[in-house]
Amino acid sequence: MPATRGLVILTGLTTAAPAWSAESASVASVVQTPLIVAVLGLLAMVSSSMALLLWRSLGRARWQASRIQRRLAQYENMAGNLPIGLHEVVDDEDVGPKFIYVNDRALELMGVSRLEAEEDLYAAFSNVHPDDHEQVLQNHESARKQNTPLTIEARFIVEGRQRWLRIESWPREVNGQFTWPGCTTDVTDRREAELQFRVLFEQSPLAIMLHDADTGEVLDANRQAWSGWGYDSIESFQAAKPHALMGPEYGEEQALEGLRLAARGGSDRFEWSSRHADGHVLWHHVTLTAILLSGRTCVLGVCLDITERRAAEHRLRESEAWFRRILQDVDGVSVQGYDADGQVRYWNRASEELYGYSAEEAIGENLVELIVPPEMREEVRQNLQRMLEGEDIENGELELMRKDGSRVPVYSSHTVLRRAEGEPELFCVDIDLSERKAHEDALDRMANYDALTGLPNRRLMGVLLEQMMVRARRAQSSFALCYLDLDDFKPINDAMGHEVGDSVLVEVGKRLHRLVRGSDLVARLGGDEFVLAMDSIGDGPELEKRLRFILDGISRPIELDGRHFQVSGSIGVTLFPQDDTDPDTLLRHADQAMYRAKAMGRNQFSLFDTEIEARVSEQRERLRKIEAGLEQGQFRLHFQPKVRLASGRVEGFEGLVRWHHPESGVLAPARFLPALDRTGLESRFGDYIIEQALQQLQHWLQGGLDLSLSVNISGPHLLSEGFVDRLQDLLSRYPDVLPERLEFEIVESAAVTHLERAVAVLLAVGDLGLQISLDDFGTGYSSLSHLRSLPVDEVKIDQSFVRDMLTDLNDYNIVRSVIGLAEAFGLRVVAEGVETPEHADALRKLGCEIVQGYAFARPMPEEEVSGWLSKHHEESS
Ligand code: C2E
Ligand code: MG
Ligand code: MG
Repeated sequence: MPATRGLVILTGLTTAAPAWSAESASVASVVQTPLIVAVLGLLAMVSSSMALLLWRSLGRARWQASRIQRRLAQYENMAGNLPIGLHEVVDDEDVGPKFIYVNDRALELMGVSRLEAEEDLYAAFSNVHPDDHEQVLQNHESARKQNTPLTIEARFIVEGRQRWLRIESWPREVNGQFTWPGCTTDVTDRREAELQFRVLFEQSPLAIMLHDADTGEVLDANRQAWSGWGYDSIESFQAAKPHALMGPEYGEEQALEGLRLAARGGSDRFEWSSRHADGHVLWHHVTLTAILLSGRTCVLGVCLDITERRAAEHRLRESEAWFRRILQDVDGVSVQGYDADGQVRYWNRASEELYGYSAEEAIGENLVELIVPPEMREEVRQNLQRMLEGEDIENGELELMRKDGSRVPVYSSHTVLRRAEGEPELFCVDIDLSERKAHEDALDRMANYDALTGLPNRRLMGVLLEQMMVRARRAQSSFALCYLDLDDFKPINDAMGHEVGDSVLVEVGKRLHRLVRGSDLVARLGGDEFVLAMDSIGDGPELEKRLRFILDGISRPIELDGRHFQVSGSIGVTLFPQDDTDPDTLLRHADQAMYRAKAMGRNQFSLFDTEIEARVSEQRERLRKIEAGLEQGQFRLHFQPKVRLASGRVEGFEGLVRWHHPESGVLAPARFLPALDRTGLESRFGDYIIEQALQQLQHWLQGGLDLSLSVNISGPHLLSEGFVDRLQDLLSRYPDVLPERLEFEIVESAAVTHLERAVAVLLAVGDLGLQISLDDFGTGYSSLSHLRSLPVDEVKIDQSFVRDMLTDLNDYNIVRSVIGLAEAFGLRVVAEGVETPEHADALRKLGCEIVQGYAFARPMPEEEVSGWLSKHHEESS
């Protein structure tokens, strides 16, 4: 028989009653039973005394009989009005059980009429709930047959309403015959309360069990309990031996001891392991509470399943152990565990390698004192404290200390491991950065230093130079920036090979380093170019002395593998802040000065002149404007006629350039030609003028004017690369123009600097058919030999002689000799700057036939030429 039944019997409740309903049930029976017994006792007494009286003196005391009848009626009335049903049943041998007494309340509760009930006792059970019917009849039959007390609790449906009735009867033997007096009570309220309680019990997410404290027997358990342990019913759960539920850590005895302990102490709480029906281990948080049920010591166990939580904790512990194992051997990641006081508790192999302490040496020591350099210890201790207080400490790079005292760069991060129990554990994870630092250093070297000499390269030099400028400005001091270029390096490189060349450069780098002061900068720009920046130095004798010292130092012979080499250097210097500009320009200025030093001869230095530079930049600006003007066609030729004195005939025109400047008006050549001198633009400009002349000649031809035109050609233009080719090309574009109509005026001085070349070009130009005139003759180097060697057709007497020939005998004589010379060489002679008829007259007398000057016309724009020509013809005819 299941244990529950045992308990129910023990507490005197019906089969289905839960364990803790026992007490309330007992209370109900205690309240009702004496009343019923008293009433039934009374009834028994009354009926027996009545029988006795009737038997003994039937006729004797009639008045007494009526008195008793009154009494009986009174009792019956009393019993009939009680709130409980009363009855007495007799078991008649012939007709079976039947009521010998039943009060109205009993009939009302069972929902039958007196007639029906008295006719057939079983009619009283006709309203029993169909589910309970069988049980009720069985109980009734067995009690009747065995003469045992009867207790039934069953549902009755009366007038459509269900109520729980409790029917109790006790056998009573009177003269060998058994009767069953009993009572019926309405227990609906209690049953419903019990039902609600049961539902709560059954539906609780907690496993709830009631144990016998002595035997451990499970008296009751809710679904959560039996299903949670893997059983399909409470019976199978109860049937499992208690020890079968015990976990790996407890034996049966221990479990029982636990129950008894709780029973004695009133309650207990603990975590308990047990086995599931399938054998796996379950963990519960258990609260045991002792309860006394009808004198029996029971223990109520409420169990919360914590298997998952324990498993998670276990997994965590396992993974922690696993990580510790991994960390133990991981390469390059040093892990140190320590407690709140800094005492080392864990020290992996990488820590041993990084810091040089074995685990045995490190564990137990103070981490801060072990690996933190003295100057950082206070800060680290404070950080440690902050970490323990829950603050986050930033990870970062720092230098820690090895056993041998050397420093090692690491990336260090920190963690605090807090557990439910125990002190927090701190962990430090350090990654060795030495290799990365070395790599970074190497990259930095590659980016900032010259691979050959190890000196700062151009990039770093720029940065350092900028810093020096900032420092000098702040300290109001100065420095000298020197650009050094080796003089004779290329031949060494070419003749001896690059390896030797490299060695020479390395040696020069080393020397420079030794020749300057510590605060000075030495850098290599590349090739054989170096930069020195010498701090706090003026432009006085000190600078000169230092520069000489450096030049001397460089030019000392260099010995390489028994061979001797010698190089010298040229140094260009600029001074900051006198030359107050940006680092790039500063370097360019020093470079320019270096070129001057080179031009001065080897092993020299030269200072950059800021005033010259200012002029240069002005000149640059001028050129820019000229170029723009050229592109916009602002340069045009004006024309001045050359007139034959005898006939007044116009021999041709000289084209003289004018700048039709949009703002400044018409500018004479003196305003802009000097800026073009020896520039890249000079030839372009000259070619443009030649083309203008050709265009003009063509234009005149088209207008029926067969004129000659001379243009002035500068020396550098004439000698420029490809001059003849370009000329040829230009001529070919104007095929109608006879080359003889075009004349070049060249100044003697320009031609004589490169006489041979000039002669060759002029011959080629002459071969193309052009006329050549030697302009400004008499000035500069004019010499007879030039006149002889240069292939010219015409000589122009310089206007300076013409101007004063009438007043200055010297000039008059010069003019006369030039005319004579020209005649001697068979050359045309033209006098320029003829301002008056007197001049013209004098010239004519001396034999000069062609003249040019204000006396005839000033240079005029193209549009005035034909008008002037017509007017001139009129006047001279
Ligand atoms: P140049 O070739 O000797 O030209 C003669 C200069 O004397 C011209 O000055 C002209 O205007 C000026 N002149 C002419 N008659 C008289 C006079 O009676 N009295 C005075 N005082 N001056 C007179 P310009 O036009 O100012 O030219 C100056 C110089 O510029 C020219 O000297 C020539 O060397 C150069 N030049 C002019 N045009 C060009 C050009 O297209 N190309 C080049 N390369 N040089 C040019
Ligand atoms: Mg001229
Ligand atoms: Mg001239």
